[in-house]
Amino acid sequence: MADHDVDLFVVGAGSGGVRAARIAAGYGARVMIAEEYRVGGTCVIRGCVPKKLLVYASRFSHDFEDAAGFGWTLHAPRFDWATLIANKDKEIARLEAAYTATLQKCAVDIVKSRAVLEDAHTVHLVATGQRIRAAHILVATGAAPHPGPAIPGIEHVISSNEAFHLGELPRHVLVQGGSYIAVEFAGIFAGLGSKVTLVYRGDNILRGFDDDVRAHLREEMEKRGIHVITHNRVNAVEPMGKHLSARLSGGNAVTADKVMFALGRPPNVYGLGLEAAGVRLADTGGIAVDEFSRTSVPHIYAVGDVTNRINLTPVAIREGQAFADTVFGGKPTQVDHTNVPTAVFSEPEVGVIGLSEAQARDRFAKVDVYLTRFRPMKATLSGRDTTIMFKLVVDGITDRVLGCHIVAPDAGEMIQLIGVAVKMGATKADLDATMAVHPTAAEELVTMRTVARSHARQAAE
Ligand SMILES: Cc1cc2nc3c(=O)[nH]c(=O)nc-3n(C[C@H](O)[C@H](O)[C@H](O)COP(=O)(O)OP(=O)(O)OC[C@H]3O[C@@H](n4cnc5c(N)ncnc54)[C@H](O)[C@@H]3O)c2cc1C
Repeated sequence: MADHDVDLFVVGAGSGGVRAARIAAGYGARVMIAEEYRVGGTCVIRGCVPKKLLVYASRFSHDFEDAAGFGWTLHAPRFDWATLIANKDKEIARLEAAYTATLQKCAVDIVKSRAVLEDAHTVHLVATGQRIRAAHILVATGAAPHPGPAIPGIEHVISSNEAFHLGELPRHVLVQGGSYIAVEFAGIFAGLGSKVTLVYRGDNILRGFDDDVRAHLREEMEKRGIHVITHNRVNAVEPMGKHLSARLSGGNAVTADKVMFALGRPPNVYGLGLEAAGVRLADTGGIAVDEFSRTSVPHIYAVGDVTNRINLTPVAIREGQAFADTVFGGKPTQVDHTNVPTAVFSEPEVGVIGLSEAQARDRFAKVDVYLTRFRPMKATLSGRDTTIMFKLVVDGITDRVLGCHIVAPDAGEMIQLIGVAVKMGATKADLDATMAVHPTAAEELVTMRTVARSHARQAAE
């Protein structure tokens, strides 16, 4: 590799790129990584981490209200947005420094610059004008918020990127979108005291999730005062004094202080020089890769959101690790993309692993559904009007659990644990054989005995 400056050039220091760079360097590779914004990438800087911090902040309002039924008297609590944002920014800066230090400790050369491929082995560093010859290239450039259609007034619309840095808490927010990011931000703003309107063009939020989850979460969000408007889109945004007026396709207008769009996150493939390098895209818009994350050019790989497979941090990290193990560790490794547990940090949370009822019915001849909705114990004294939901989707022939869907406080924590059992191929009988932990909400997972619905496919004539 003497005619190369580095063994590996990584484009993008996010979840996937950082892991790949660190592990490859550990195997002895000379590694350079380029980052055009901040080391740590979306998850650390303007995704999972700051979002979860805001989610924590937003939940105190319910806790304060719920405390009264348990005998507590609180003087009217006050919330200060500026303190929250300053503390959040401090924590993000600490994490960015920690990621940078880890890379430096592994002798990874960090370049603060946009990187563009010039050909299959040459990377151009835009900030310095340098050209680096690399034996291998890893594209880990992630995804970016969809700016939305070019409607009149689109310049007044923010994305999740800006939502993390607002100067003040808006009194009224309109969020357009039905994705997990849209419902999470709706919950954050509502919990912090904003009036929230969620506008979605489809028939219900969280497209792709189980229908019972979608209906249940919507109902819970509405109970918490979020106004959900479906079958509508924002057609125009006009300034109206100090406010904005959003015109909806249904004919109504909504007045808000901020309008945020969360309309998906297309892969970051533009202006990267992929054509010059001969790297092909898939129909999904992401970089086409094989099961080892190898692109159409054998020494160029791609991991994470830019491949548009499953766009989650733990998946990007696994793919980065598998790439480094395969190419520099002599251990060919594929990432298993089945049964990936995931959470939506809405209010209440959603935790999901495996198939929805509809997906299971498409693929399996007999499907049994176990479903329970009930008032959580805490609500008996707090008086809060809320119910939680647990659902199991089971193969009616083999008894294997195909899917688990939870809408409840801490659903993210629960799905991580039940996810192990589902991934290992647990049957409904295995869950039934497990003793309940009482009194918990999660005990429902091992105590549901009655089939709520059973679907059997008719044999073909
Ligand atoms: C608001 C929000 C909340 C989220 N919440 C969750 C969650 O709760 N759980 C979860 O698992 N996932 C969550 N995600 C998704 C998660 O952040 C991504 O799946 C993950 O960050 C993908 O990692 P990556 O390495 O593919 O890309 P990224 O982390 O996006 O990193 C890509 C990096 O490449 C840089 N870059 C791009 N182009 C270039 C270039 N040409 N040159 C140099 N640098 C470049 C970017 O600046 C970026 O830092 C969330 C995302 C958002 C936006």
